[in-house]
Parts: sequence; C-alpha cells; structure tokens
Amino acid sequence: MSDKLNRLKEIVGEVSDLGRAASVLGWDQQVNMPPMGGEARGQQLATLGKIAQEKFTADEVGTLLEDLKKEYTDPETDEGAMIRVAARNYDKAKRVPSSFIAEQAVAASKAFEAWVEAKSKSDFKIFLPFLEKNVELVKKYVSFFPPADHPYDVLLDDYEPGMKTAEVQEIFGNLRPKQVELIKAISEAKQVKDKFLHKKYNEEKLWKFSEKIIAKFGYDFNRGRQDKAPHPFQTSFSVNDVRITNRYEEKNPMATLFSAMHEAGHALYELGVNPAYERTSLESGTSLAIHESQSRMWENLVGRSLPFWEHFYPDLKKTFSSQLEDVKLKQFYKAINKVEPSLIRVNADEATYNLHIMLRLEIEIGMVDGSIRIKDLPEIWNTKMKEYLGITPPNDAQGVLQDIHWSYGSIGYFSTYALGNIVSAQLWEKIRKDIKNLDDLTRKGKFEKLREWLRANIHQYGHKYDPQDIVQKVTGSKIDSAAYVRYLTKKYSDIYDL
Ligand code: MG
Repeated sequence: MSDKLNRLKEIVGEVSDLGRAASVLGWDQQVNMPPMGGEARGQQLATLGKIAQEKFTADEVGTLLEDLKKEYTDPETDEGAMIRVAARNYDKAKRVPSSFIAEQAVAASKAFEAWVEAKSKSDFKIFLPFLEKNVELVKKYVSFFPPADHPYDVLLDDYEPGMKTAEVQEIFGNLRPKQVELIKAISEAKQVKDKFLHKKYNEEKLWKFSEKIIAKFGYDFNRGRQDKAPHPFQTSFSVNDVRITNRYEEKNPMATLFSAMHEAGHALYELGVNPAYERTSLESGTSLAIHESQSRMWENLVGRSLPFWEHFYPDLKKTFSSQLEDVKLKQFYKAINKVEPSLIRVNADEATYNLHIMLRLEIEIGMVDGSIRIKDLPEIWNTKMKEYLGITPPNDAQGVLQDIHWSYGSIGYFSTYALGNIVSAQLWEKIRKDIKNLDDLTRKGKFEKLREWLRANIHQYGHKYDPQDIVQKVTGSKIDSAAYVRYLTKKYSDIYDL
C-alpha cells in the first residue's frame, strides 16, 4: 500500500474518531445528561465538529485524493471505493463555507423557537418568515454546487448519494395512485378491532420482551445496548459498539416492541459492516434509504408478519395474560396491522405512511424551485391531505406545522423514509427466492439465515456502493415500487378481506 494511502487513512481515521466521539456525547445527551448540561454539551460538540472539519478539508487531503484517484481507479476494489467516497465528501465539505454553516445554525435556532410557538398556537404565520429564511439559505447552499438537473438534486444527494429528483418523482408517481386506491378500498372495508392494544401494559415486561425479540434477531448485547431516551434512535461508536434507544408510550405500548425491532434493524446493518472498513469513508451504511430498508424490514416485513407472531404470540400472551386474555393470534395480527388514515405522519401505519412522505416531497421540491409560495403552504398541505388520505387537518398544528424538520432548515430527506419501505419490499422478494423456507424459520424464531443473507448482500459493503447501485446489484433492477405494491396488496387483502 502506498505511503499516500496510509497518510490519507490516518487523517480519515482521525476524522472518524472525532465524529464518533461526538456521537458518544450526543448519545449521552439523549440518555444520561442532566437538563442543565445542555449548553456546555452544545459547545463541546461544536468544537469537535470544527476540528473534524478543519482536519478533513486541509489542502493536504485534497492533494492526496487527487494523486490517489489516479493510482486507484477501480471502484470495485476497497481502496478505489474508499478514495471515491472520501473524494466526494471532501468536495462537498470544501464547497460550503464555514461562515455559511454558522449563519444557517443561527437561523435554524431562531426558526426552531418560532416553530415551537407557532405549533403551540397553531398559527403558521408566526413561523412563515423564519421558514422563508430557511428556504432562502437552502437555496444558497444549492448555489455552492455545480448546476444540477434540478436544484433539489443537490439536497437529495446529501442523503441518497447519486440519486436524482426525477428518479424519486418517477418512483413515487408510479406508487401514489396505487397506494391511494388501496387505502380507499381499506377505508370502505370493515375496520379491525384493536382496543386490547391500548390497555395498560407493564413497561418493564415490555422492555424485556423487546430485548428477547431483538436478541433472537441477532442483536448482540456484547456489542450493543438498549437505553431509554425521549425518541428511539440508533447510533454507532465502532463496529463493536452499536447502540439503540427506545421508549415507553402509555397510549401505544406495543410501540416499544416495534421500535426495538426497527432500531435493531438499523443496528444490524452497522454491526455487519466489514470490520476492515473501520475508520474509513466506508465504515457506515450507504444511505438513509438503504438504512431505512433494513429497519423497516425487521419492523414490518418480519415483525408485523403472521409467521413471526406464530412464534412469539404464545409467549406474549403468557406475559400479558390479562390484557390478551380472549385475543386470538389472528385478531392480534390484524390489530397490529390496522390501517387508518390519520393526520400525523409519525403515527401513520404501514399502508398510509408513504402518502405523508409524498406530500412533503412535493412541497419541498416546490419550495426549492420556487413553484410553491411559502405562504400558501397550509392550503396546499390541506388540499393534498384530502386528495391522498381523504382527511383534512382541522388546524395548522395537526397539518403543516407538525414536523420539526423544516424548522432547522433540513430539506431533502423525507423521501428517504418512503424509499426505505420500497427497497425493503424489493429485497424481500429476492430473499424469499433465495431462502425458500423463510416462513418456517420465522415460525421457529430462527433468523440467522435472514440476517446472514442481509450481511452478505448489503451490510458488509458499508458505504462501498451508492444506493441505486446496491439495489441493482442485489435485485437486478433499480429502486422500483412494484414489489412494494404487491406486498401491500397481498397483506391487506387478507387482513381486510378486499
Ligand atoms: Mg429509522
């Protein structure tokens, strides 16, 4: 290996160390930190971020990358891929001035405060000027990059490297009418009963049960842990320390089980990355959509399936005998898959979720290319909600103001959630071809084959392949919603007798 490559690896390794140290601080902030610790923690994180940025954008790194790109031209080799990804990250980091990052941070914190107030008063007008400022800054961010087919491409690329707005629009465009049609059919069918899911369930028992499930998935508690936090998330400090958080929701107790499965799905991805990629540009999962395909697969395709509960339900019923006394397996299965168009994205079920995302994507694209005026957002939002989900928000708080993302100037990643669902179903069809007795294994609570398949086909590669490329490599086609439509239709035809 050349001296230059060693030198690059040394620098990138140190930048990774700084990033992962920041992740430890961020995890601690969510899990352990007393309330008064926030200000200092913010300072510490900013300092680490600044040092990492300076280290990575040093001219030496640029020179090394230029030389190494000529030396390692094959992107199929690990070295070629490492250099390609590092060079792309370097180019992005160099283009955005640190003064801009600071300006955006200040605007975001003001906008966040305005959003909190606007939401509590359910008055979009309070948030309007701050959102306009955030969008203006997002457009400025776009201007640091070479002209793209669509300005939104630049934003999307930060989350889905290489993906184009037109591709996502095509994928969603094919899916939307079919999903709207399915929801309509479901809403005309007889609704399933799920009252027993909203009784009081013991928190500690649920927590233990969630750990029993994810241990069977193969989440290794010698290389990870589950802690309590206000929001469930996954974070990694190294390939041997990948943590998840979870919570207990009194009104929705089963969420503890499904969130554990979801976050463990993210964690298995990180735990499965080739250890040789540690401290390089390939050390993590390749994109948010591919990551979400993993979490959604374990949560929904595995965790909301009948074979899964054929295995786990007797135990769950024994653990919560009074709550589930008269509830048969099939009733329970239907209840955890209940579909009901609702106003709030984070509470949406598997069948309606993507429609919430499509609405947001269309609005984001319109804000960025100027075809939508920000002041018209509440009206546009409500019209689309009616069109897609058949319901109209009674106020802005339950409509356009519900999500935090735009308040901190984050535009571009909503679509990754829906893409993750779509990819999960695509992979699932391939998995079912490759593992013929998948359902039988699931009924026995055996997940090694599935996990190993995912590790061999997706996880081990970390960041080596861009999202479209890895989906193509594994399934033979690019991201496409057909498998997802087949999956939803089959599942809900059975549950709702369509
Ligand atoms: Mg997730």
